[in-house]
Amino acid sequence: MSHRDKAANQLMQHKKLLEGKPQENATESAGRPIGLHTASETVGPRGPMLMHDFQYQDIMAHFNQERIPERVVHAKGAGAFGYFEVTHDITQYTKACVFDHIGKKTPVGVRFSTVGGESGSADTARDPRGFAVKFYTQDGNWDLVGNNTPIFFIRDPILFPSFIHTQKRNPVTHLKDPDMFWDFISLRPETTHQVSFLFSERGTPDGYRHMNGYGSHTFKLVNKDGKPVYCKFHFKTDQGIKNFTASQAAQLSADDPDYAIRDLYNAIASGNFPSWTLKIQVMTFEEAEKFKFNPFDLTKVWSQKEYPLIPVGRMVLNLNPKNYFAEVEQIAFCPAHLIPGIEPSPDKMLQGRMFSYPDTHRHRLGTNYLQIPVNCPFAAKVRNYIRDGPACVTDNQGGAPNYFPNSFSGPTDDAKFSPSTYEASGDVKRYNTADDDNYAQVTTFWREVLSPSDRTALVTNIAGHLKDASEFIQKRTVGNFTQVDAECGKRIQELLDEHKKQSAKAANL
Ligand code: NDP
Repeated sequence: MSHRDKAANQLMQHKKLLEGKPQENATESAGRPIGLHTASETVGPRGPMLMHDFQYQDIMAHFNQERIPERVVHAKGAGAFGYFEVTHDITQYTKACVFDHIGKKTPVGVRFSTVGGESGSADTARDPRGFAVKFYTQDGNWDLVGNNTPIFFIRDPILFPSFIHTQKRNPVTHLKDPDMFWDFISLRPETTHQVSFLFSERGTPDGYRHMNGYGSHTFKLVNKDGKPVYCKFHFKTDQGIKNFTASQAAQLSADDPDYAIRDLYNAIASGNFPSWTLKIQVMTFEEAEKFKFNPFDLTKVWSQKEYPLIPVGRMVLNLNPKNYFAEVEQIAFCPAHLIPGIEPSPDKMLQGRMFSYPDTHRHRLGTNYLQIPVNCPFAAKVRNYIRDGPACVTDNQGGAPNYFPNSFSGPTDDAKFSPSTYEASGDVKRYNTADDDNYAQVTTFWREVLSPSDRTALVTNIAGHLKDASEFIQKRTVGNFTQVDAECGKRIQELLDEHKKQSAKAANL
């Protein structure tokens, strides 16, 4: 960043807003006005300090506790606010109030993020990007907590902690570890599809405005007659897809590690509001029954040729956060925050996330995290029998009864809000899904979607990272890509051989 832009001028902007207004006096946290802000209270000019210097304690004790736990994944991110507007009628599929008529506008809060890195890591790292949208509807908040890819690395959530450990730091060296990464990837070939997206140019998008977002999971839509269909959500960027090459991304991670946060902030502050077109794919229950693969498998897409995209509406981001910590660090998304008309599918990854998101929010933000203004379902009125807990900042539902059933006009229930009924049966056991066709869609991706130059970028990016892993892990990984396409595996191996030759040459110099 070599020039002053909207982001750099934020403080000047703040000062301008207060021009002509009387100067405010600082206060202690309990409101007492402060006499001198720059000195602690001492006996004589050389001290000691006084135990009763509450002004010092107030400032220091709060500072000592001002960090909350970083998100275990998606720690680095940017947020913005705006609205979603319906442009096409999909009420034949869903009664969800957010879609109930063309022209309907619903406020949204969005957070984009990288996944594996820490809160201070570079925005241009090769990584999937989080794409999480909170719709503040009158039936409560609906969170669509997706990524910039329609698929994920694994299809069973029990593998998630192990998978994420391999993206983080080695427990001894505290370094990113290519052996950890590629060992797991090559031992679990269901990762091959997402790894191919990750090492294509889409793995290093140009900021957050030039990428698509996907709900990724299969969800269920239910209409007013109770008829369900399965559905996938796609947000297509109206700015067009734009990616960095590996070397551009590496350069930016040194020159401007906050590139994506800055880009989003400046675009919105300049009135250049980014937008995305929401589309859905729909599959009937009958089709799902007979489908050629498990339609709830998060490592696979539904072909857009077989299940064409149906337009729904447009999301516009036109407001920057007023305060990053309050509105972005504390925004808490959860795939279990659904509204009538939108329900979960049997997707195991979705089911697993429905548990883990609120669990981690209670750890990071406390049990009353849904009372934090950015998380509060402000368009709906919350009334129930949940009470108390640390940092309760509402009226705690006043004098209303805190048990149910009751005879004192406490909130009641209505069957019209019940989720749809469906049949589930099967033998209970731990089903090993390791061999559920891990390659067919990657083969299509390699042969039919990628251009010749995309294919070159993919094998170059894979080899450029894989070269640092142990040779037996390289071999296993190449074996997996050979199953995608013999040519793909061969080209990765050739590049690895070339890297090996170069480093042997360098060592002998
Ligand atoms: P289509 O030809 O109808 O769709 C292919 C899709 O691939 C495009 O619509 C685009 O999706 C996406 N795409 C294009 N270039 C890239 C790239 N460099 N990296 C990642 N995605 C890209 O075929 P199918 O729907 O039958 O899918 C064929 C293959 O395409 C799949 O096996 C999958 O690997 C890949 N794909 C499919 C998607 C889907 O939802 N069906 C989405 C993304 C990839 P978009 O417009 O969403 O960017």
